[in-house]
Amino acid sequence: MAATVLDGRSLATRIEDSLRAEVETFAAMFRHRPRLVVVLVGDLAASASYVKSKSAAAARVGIDSEVVAAPATATTAELVALVESIARGERGRADGILVQLPLPDHVDSVAVLDAVPPQLDVDGFHPENAGLLSQGRPRFVPCTAAGVQRLLIDAEIETAGRHAVIVGRSDIVGKPLALLLSAKAPSTAAPPARHGCDATVTLCHSRSADLATLTRQADILVAAVGRPKMITAEMVKPGAAVIDVGINRVDGRLVGDVDFESVSQVAGQITPVPGGVGPLTVAMLLANTLLAAELRGRNGHA
Ligand code: NDP
Repeated sequence: MAATVLDGRSLATRIEDSLRAEVETFAAMFRHRPRLVVVLVGDLAASASYVKSKSAAAARVGIDSEVVAAPATATTAELVALVESIARGERGRADGILVQLPLPDHVDSVAVLDAVPPQLDVDGFHPENAGLLSQGRPRFVPCTAAGVQRLLIDAEIETAGRHAVIVGRSDIVGKPLALLLSAKAPSTAAPPARHGCDATVTLCHSRSADLATLTRQADILVAAVGRPKMITAEMVKPGAAVIDVGINRVDGRLVGDVDFESVSQVAGQITPVPGGVGPLTVAMLLANTLLAAELRGRNGHA
């Protein structure tokens, strides 16, 4: 039986529609629009394309955005100074700052990301935001992890008491997603808001022994590795929800970490690549930017 394909694009459009209304309310109240500043270093075609789609999405919901470009030869110190100057407002108002990854190999990415003040960290990568998430009181949740959770909630895929297996333990995807899915659901929340929490989580990585045995136990299987089609049908429990975060370029095409053709014959639900998690990552970035502007406004700094 073929799996239900979870359409990330249409969900992202619905999220944008509600964000557009919230942005208008914000703009009427504070007399300016939320503003996102994106730092783009070097000339990687993939990075330029991601930044373009983020800027276009911001424009669609009424969020102002600016791309600040730096050459591939920029040093760590220069990039830290650039981020600090943006945070001080020297390049116009910034409610949110995003540093497009990856940075060139010679750059200390952690130092550059840490230069983004936690209140402007709409990617949710700063240690303060990671710490808040780990304590169950999230502020800015990393966008891809938030997007996966939103997809599960929207599809009404039950997580409470179920086994979620995440392949990939990066700070930007696997680890925050493990924290989100294993978090205790607020006791006051009613379904579907209760979905997306209270799962039992197994977090796998390159040293995990017998990966297929682990993935076959998953009610919800998330692949966030960066290896084209590595999750095959034999690794999936019949009826499982399979979420493919991977984005790999193979022969000029985008391919996920999941072998869609074979896995869609076994899974209950599956996300496509492209058109699955990717659009939700962008939608969650917009939501975080609006939240950053709102928090700033609430604190009287608007
Ligand atoms: P990283 O390279 O930072 O992390 C990859 C993870 O996969 C690591 O934890 C690594 O293990 C693990 N891994 C590598 N090989 C294996 C293996 N053979 N078996 C099990 N685990 C393995 O990647 P990211 O988290 O940044 O990204 C993952 C993928 O998601 C990429 O394709 C990326 O392009 C995509 N992505 C998509 C986004 C979207 O919006 N859809 C957003 C962000 C990323 P170890 O820790 O041991 O090295």
